[in-house]
Amino acid sequence: MRIAMIGTGYVGLVSGACFSDFGHEVICVDKDARKIDLLEQNVMPIYEPGLAELVAGNVKAGRLSFTTNLAEAVKDADAIFIAVGTPSRRGDGHADLSYVFAAAREIAENLTRNSVIVTKSTVPVGTGDEVSRIISEIAPDKGAMVVSNPEFLREGAAIEDFKRPDRVVVGSEDETATEVMRQIYRPLSLNQNAPVLFVGRRTSELIKYAANAFLAVKITFINEIADLCEKVGADVQQVARGIGMDNRIGPKFLHAGPGYGGSCFPKDTLALLKTADDNDTPLRIVESTVQVNDSRKRAMGRKVIRAMGGDIRGKSVAILGLTFKPNTDDMRDAPSIAIIQALQDAGASIRAYDPEGVEQARPLLKDVTFSESPYAAAEKADALVIVTEWDEFRALDLDRMSEILATPLLVDLRNIYPPAEAERAGLRLVGIGKAA
Ligand code: NAD
Repeated sequence: MRIAMIGTGYVGLVSGACFSDFGHEVICVDKDARKIDLLEQNVMPIYEPGLAELVAGNVKAGRLSFTTNLAEAVKDADAIFIAVGTPSRRGDGHADLSYVFAAAREIAENLTRNSVIVTKSTVPVGTGDEVSRIISEIAPDKGAMVVSNPEFLREGAAIEDFKRPDRVVVGSEDETATEVMRQIYRPLSLNQNAPVLFVGRRTSELIKYAANAFLAVKITFINEIADLCEKVGADVQQVARGIGMDNRIGPKFLHAGPGYGGSCFPKDTLALLKTADDNDTPLRIVESTVQVNDSRKRAMGRKVIRAMGGDIRGKSVAILGLTFKPNTDDMRDAPSIAIIQALQDAGASIRAYDPEGVEQARPLLKDVTFSESPYAAAEKADALVIVTEWDEFRALDLDRMSEILATPLLVDLRNIYPPAEAERAGLRLVGIGKAA
C-alpha cells in the first residue's frame, strides 16, 4: 500500500514509521520545514523510545521518506492519513478543527485518484461528514472516500502500542474503503489477533472521546479516593490493589497522583463536553472530572506548601520531573506547570530536573533554574518533590539526598518510595493518599 501521512508529530511520525515497518510505502508530510530537515538527517524532532532506530531502518530500506510537499505525497496514494493537531480552540474549549479542514482542502486540491482519506486526528463526531463534504466539493470526480481511524497510542510506549494495539477502530461508510483499511492493518494479524473493529464513522469518532473520558474519570476517581485516604488513615495504593483485583475494575489507571495532563485528556474531555452541550445531553460525570482535575494540580502545590510548614517565602524547592508523564518530552498541560506556579506565587524559588523535557519546559516555566541531575537540583533545597515518575527517580540515593537537602523532606506525588525506605535515609516522606 502507498500511504501519505499528513502531519508528522507524535502520532503521524510514529504511525508512519510503524506502517513502513509493516512493509507499506510511506511518505510523511509536515508543513514545518524544520521537522522535515531534522528527519532527513535522522534527528528525531520528538523524544520517543525506539523511534530513531525504527525510522533509520525504514528510511534505509527505502520504504519511508519525508517531505514538505503535500502534492508529491498525495499523488497516487492508496490512503492519505490526516494526523494534524486538534488543540482546544481558544476561548470555548471546542476542538480546533482548522488544521484538519485545511489539510482536507489541500489533499482535495492534489488528489489524483480515488484514495481513501483517513482521519487519524482525534475529531468530534460529525467531522468526517464535513471532511467528506470538503473533498467532494473540491474534487467531485475523484471518488475519494473518507474514513475515521482514531489513534490510541500512548506517548512513551507509542511504538509498542501501535504495533500491538488492544484494538484498532475503523469507522467507514464504504465497502471499498473498508477493504483498503483491512489491507493496511492486515500485517497486525500476522503476529497476533489484533481486533480491528469496523463501525460507522460517527461511532468511531465517539469511541475515541468516550475512551479518553473514561480513563480520565478512572484516574480522577482514584485521586479523590486518595484524598479521602489521607483524612481517614487508609492507604490508597492498597485500596487501588484491592479494587483492581476485581476483573470488572482492573488494575490499570488506578495510580493516584497529581492529576492528569498531557496533550489528550484535558483537551479531549473538554471537546466531548462541548459536543454533549451542542446536543443537549449533559455528561455530568465528565463535567465533574474536568473540574476536579483542574483544581487538583494547583492543590498539589498547596500540599507541598503545607508539608513545608506553611510559609515558604524565600525557601527553595527542588522539582524532579516536568513532563506530563515519563518517557516523553511532551509538556502540554503538564501538572508540573501549575504546581511550580503555586510554589512561586507563595514566594519559593524553584530548581528543576527532567531527563528529556527541559527544552519544551523552558518557554513555559519562568524563573526556574534547570539542573543537570536530581542531586544538583536537590542541593540545599528545603524540599524535594517528585512530580513525574521517570525510571531514573526510582532508585535515587536517598542517603545522599538526605545529606544535601537543607531540610530532609521528600514529597512524592507518585508514591514511588515506601515510607520505611525514606525514613531509613532520614527523610520525612509525604506521599499521595497515605495517612500522615
Ligand atoms: P503534533 O502537534 O505533535 O503534530 C501535528 C503535526 O501536524 C505538526 O508537526 C504540524 O506542523 C503538522 N501539520 C499541521 N497542519 C498541517 C498541514 N496542513 N500539512 C502538513 N502538516 C501539518 O500533534 P500529535 O500529538 O501528533 O496529535 C495529532 C492528533 O492525534 C491530535 O488530534 C491528537 O489529539 C491525536 N492523538 C494524539 C496522541 C498523543 O499521544 N500525542 C494520541 C492519540 C491521538
